[in-house]
Amino acid sequence: MKSYLTHLECAWCHQTYDADQLINLCPDCGKPLLARYDIDSARQTFSRASLGGRPANLWRYGEMLPVRDPAYRYTLNEGYTPLIKLDRLGQALGLTNLYAKDESLNPTASFKARGLVMAVSRAAELGAKAIAIPTAGNAGSAMAAYAARAGLPAHIYTPQDVPSIFVAEMKALGAQVTLVDGLITDCARYVREGVEEGHWFDVSTLKEPYRVEGKKTMGYELAEHFDGELPDVVIYPTGGGTGIIGMWKAFDEMEQLGWISADRPRMISVQSAGCAPIVRAYEQGVELAEPWQNAKTIADGLRVPAAVGDFLILRAVRDSGGTAIAVPDEETSAALHEIGPAEGLFVAPEAAATLAALRQLVADGLVQRDERIVLFFTGSGLKYSHLIH
Ligand SMILES: *Cc1c(COP(=O)(O)O)cnc(C)c1O
Ligand SMILES: [Zn+2]
Repeated sequence: MKSYLTHLECAWCHQTYDADQLINLCPDCGKPLLARYDIDSARQTFSRASLGGRPANLWRYGEMLPVRDPAYRYTLNEGYTPLIKLDRLGQALGLTNLYAKDESLNPTASFKARGLVMAVSRAAELGAKAIAIPTAGNAGSAMAAYAARAGLPAHIYTPQDVPSIFVAEMKALGAQVTLVDGLITDCARYVREGVEEGHWFDVSTLKEPYRVEGKKTMGYELAEHFDGELPDVVIYPTGGGTGIIGMWKAFDEMEQLGWISADRPRMISVQSAGCAPIVRAYEQGVELAEPWQNAKTIADGLRVPAAVGDFLILRAVRDSGGTAIAVPDEETSAALHEIGPAEGLFVAPEAAATLAALRQLVADGLVQRDERIVLFFTGSGLKYSHLIH
């Protein structure tokens, strides 16, 4: 299969750029660049039926992914994760069609693998000599794994209060790890300085065009799970928002490919009450989110005080008729302890927050009994044993 990538387009000012160069944010306005494809040509051969017999990983959607040379399609068999029916939790909430997308089965145990396999593969294809990332944990682990596959030096900056298991994992995967006295925004500053000094390419969330391309494959998989339809409600724990932005992009691509209709799920963005810049912006009706002060939450992946793709998250939520919900840590913790005994899944706190958010939606009458609802269980609980009591 051939990639139909044509160019990059700024999501804010719509300036277009050559896709075959290493590039971060839009040089004109500093907002994220998105990959564009020749969908009219792709649709001639890339049908849903053509997926039969393809590998059970995210490279099965290769026509709509950015890597051109198959030699650079590095893989640990990420993506193509199962959809699991949650009958016990559904029954307790009065819902008949509740599901989880179990992303804990990805390499390094979170959906960060989807984004990083794409960013690292494409950076390698475009000639990067080393890569760097600021991380709350899972992104660093995934980046280290794919840097190893690609044979690229990996430099990771992470807050010093990151659970030690992540540091062990990153080091075991061969990365150079620096612990930073500060938040992920401080880590990002170190990475930026290294870029300015020419040490490495920056693969931060949405600061290069391709992590979102990896994450969008969750949207393609939803159409496979529901046999050419999409669910009614998608509940997504939001930090930088690559997944929600990516799925929203995938839905448009699939409609142009002729795979799905114009129907869209309501996209529900979930954040922690201790760091909810997107929820606040949603409630205020504004297009860009103000940075959140004193961010604090047990859900490390949601501790993102400022997201460069804020306007894209907000557009997906609003255009879909969804909403944005903040969940207090106590409710997240209670949900985590509820999911395991009910369904046999030990999930990360970010994932647990989606159940707490669903409870609010049910209480407010915002979901109906028979609607198909998908919770994104974005990571495994195994690296968060400190939260279990
Ligand atoms: C990073 C992360 C998130 C947030 O993902 P974004 O796409 O950055 O919004 C959610 N859950 C887990 C487990 C994560 O590691
Ligand atoms: Zn721009």
